[in-house]
Amino acid sequence: MPTVSVAALCLLTIVLPAQQLSSAPPYTVVTRDARRPLAARVLGGQEMFALDDLARLFSLTIREDAAAGGITVTSGSQSVVLSLQQPLASVAGRMISLPAAAVREGRAVYVPVDFVSRALAPIYTQRIDLRKPSRLLLVGDVRLPRIAARVEPLGSLTRVTLDVAPSTPHTVSQDGQRLLVRFDADALDAADLRASTTTDTLLNVHVGDAPQVVAIDLGPKFASFRAADQPGPAGSTRIVIDLVAQTEAPAQPGAAQPGAAQPGAQPPGAAQPGVALPQPTPPLPEPPPVLDLPPAGGLRTIVIDAGHGGDDAGARGVQGVLEKDVTLGVARRLKAALEARLGVRVLLTRDADQTVLSDQRAALANNNKADLFISLHANASVRPNVSGAQVFYLNLAGYGDEAQRASQVRADSLPVLGGGSREIEITPWEMAQASHIEQSAAFARDVEAALRARVPMSPRALQQAPLRVLVGANMPAILVEVGFLTNAQQEKRLAGEAEQNLIVQALVDGILRYRGATQGTPLDDGRGRR
Ligand SMILES: [Zn+2]
Repeated sequence: MPTVSVAALCLLTIVLPAQQLSSAPPYTVVTRDARRPLAARVLGGQEMFALDDLARLFSLTIREDAAAGGITVTSGSQSVVLSLQQPLASVAGRMISLPAAAVREGRAVYVPVDFVSRALAPIYTQRIDLRKPSRLLLVGDVRLPRIAARVEPLGSLTRVTLDVAPSTPHTVSQDGQRLLVRFDADALDAADLRASTTTDTLLNVHVGDAPQVVAIDLGPKFASFRAADQPGPAGSTRIVIDLVAQTEAPAQPGAAQPGAAQPGAQPPGAAQPGVALPQPTPPLPEPPPVLDLPPAGGLRTIVIDAGHGGDDAGARGVQGVLEKDVTLGVARRLKAALEARLGVRVLLTRDADQTVLSDQRAALANNNKADLFISLHANASVRPNVSGAQVFYLNLAGYGDEAQRASQVRADSLPVLGGGSREIEITPWEMAQASHIEQSAAFARDVEAALRARVPMSPRALQQAPLRVLVGANMPAILVEVGFLTNAQQEKRLAGEAEQNLIVQALVDGILRYRGATQGTPLDDGRGRR
């Protein structure tokens, strides 16, 4: 237990009057076997968890270093050092930012709820998925896709669109006056599930009798339906269900031919009018390659991950430059450069200021069978003079014996991972990157060497770390910290076009180096492809 000095208590009595301290609705912790509440409270405008509650929940060891003003949180062999003065934590030796500093209140220490996703998740042996909008904290291999519904009356059709993230196998079937969309999941995260309007064919959309079923209550004029899947952004799926009214045509076979579909609805081969029992949904169409070129030395698809985004700004420089903006800027430039110079397909995990879950980033790469995964970040430090770029690849220590063993196994004998379409088995996410660790190390070395030729490097430029975003990637994967935003000089440069272009050139060089080394193709990529 942390000891509390008299001085600290007095200070807090002044800084935190009682009215600043209020409770918030609890979060629900969901594991495979149980659900339990986790109290949250608002301190200084920030939602916070008690560190002791987290310690019990995740079997953490808490040790306070009063002299240094820090708290060490240990899980297994990994540690987080949390500052009580600054909104920063050192996660397995890497600095991350938090929306606020930890707060001591009496004998308890409170941490911003984001501590769980930003500091604890990267070092914890099981998946941790914090979903603030639905007030859920998912721990372990629990499948709880988020479902949002939209209803559009389109003349004699009513279109129900279900956005499902991540993609989850499902069936659509009719059961009397209901359509049931049954997901291969433990339950649904359905905070956004409601019908915005009703029509003659649709009365309501809600969670069904079983927790993994969405029920669509049909109206009196309902005649038939058709259902189709479309790929959505960032590893999600969009299920489009058209409800056909009786007035359009009699309720008999032929009433809903694909020709009658509205633009945008795919002809659903499997969905026939009025058919009653489980209908397999059609498989997701594979997005066509942008360029139908022969494999460019084995590289066809590269996924670039612009770190952070949306309400997660990442690190913040002293002049206000945000990590999420720097990573998106570099990602967009890198995509353009790679497409132009290598003729490969490049996908971004986000192309806007939006929130993307950590595991969804790797899932996008897996679902698109990417050959390389590059996660872009910018770093922060408590010491303003620290600067320079760093390249990371995954450290398997802390992910258990299974991951270590998987690193010895040939990649093609491993199951396909990613939680995508129905043929994908749910297996330990931790095994995906393990089988590529040697290639990731080689890729990291090549990128580090290329960066060194163009931009300032950190004294610890090449490192291994337990990085959540890389764990699930089923291909060679690295994380690049392009520099330190807490260094004023570097902050200014990283926000500008010139430095971003230098980083992009270096990353392209690194990818070419890696391709040349692994595929035996010359570094000069210009000949024979354009
Ligand atoms: Zn970052």
